[in-house]
Amino acid sequence: MAIAIEHVVTRDQIVWGFGPEMEPVLEVEPGAVVRFETNDCFTGQIASEDDLVTEIDFNRVNSATGPVAVKGAEPGDSLVVELLEVRPAKTGFATIIPDFGQLIGRVSSPVTKVFRVEGDTVHMNERISFPLRPMVGVVGVATDGETIANGWAGRHGGNLDDHLHGPGAKLYFPVRRPGGMFAVGDMHASMGDGEICGTGVEIAGEVVARFDVLKGKQATWPVTELPDRWVAHATAGADFMEALELAAEEAARLLVDQWAFTIEEAFIFLSVACDVGICQACRPSPFSTIARVAVPKVGATPRPFA
Ligand code: CA
Ligand code: CA
Repeated sequence: MAIAIEHVVTRDQIVWGFGPEMEPVLEVEPGAVVRFETNDCFTGQIASEDDLVTEIDFNRVNSATGPVAVKGAEPGDSLVVELLEVRPAKTGFATIIPDFGQLIGRVSSPVTKVFRVEGDTVHMNERISFPLRPMVGVVGVATDGETIANGWAGRHGGNLDDHLHGPGAKLYFPVRRPGGMFAVGDMHASMGDGEICGTGVEIAGEVVARFDVLKGKQATWPVTELPDRWVAHATAGADFMEALELAAEEAARLLVDQWAFTIEEAFIFLSVACDVGICQACRPSPFSTIARVAVPKVGATPRPFA
């Protein structure tokens, strides 16, 4: 059945950061379905393999389309965003960026690669193809403190770069300002856990999302629900172990507060049944580190929030 899209936010309606004073370009009721047109992370500055990442304006990267305010979303609630569709365009780009990523000392840089999307397949060249796995990197809501540029991740979301954020994912954002103020961008046709070289297949596209509000419940960071599991996130500075400790604490807090685990049960359950993942591991780049902990949906843990 076709999804009835009630609103469209075009790709010229963008923000470059998430802060406390965001003005909505659209205000909707809970239940509304909105289509967002998104720019690729380079905002069109890279169009061929001759366009190098060292020659672009880095003030124009990672735009996010929006923000959209949802009526009734108040601080203390969660803004629930269900990604119904994540549809990339036909051509995407990955780059090797000087100072980004684990292999940077062993490769020439900069390099731009063009990718073609055809049906469910992404083509790197005539020899190398792999499955389309569309996702959005930048997803967030207003902060209650400083303005955080879209290259960075934080408690509001932002550049979480989690490849699980594709079609069918439901994201719970902690609302910190009335309306929530959701914006989305930085689509990838595919990106691996960790984003080793600092880019996925960066691509423009369209995102269709349905909004809802969960009253009186929120986590510290965005939490993601998938058909078979739910995923706690946390962000930190340069140190993955710090992000992982915070993500484990966030998952344990949800298990204890929402699902009546003892802290000892949560500690052991996280070890015996839950998977750790990392996003944006392109050290030594300066961006945030992001860790996540995936909790399987079993009888005792059916959703992130009871
Ligand atoms: Ca990103
Ligand atoms: Ca990206």
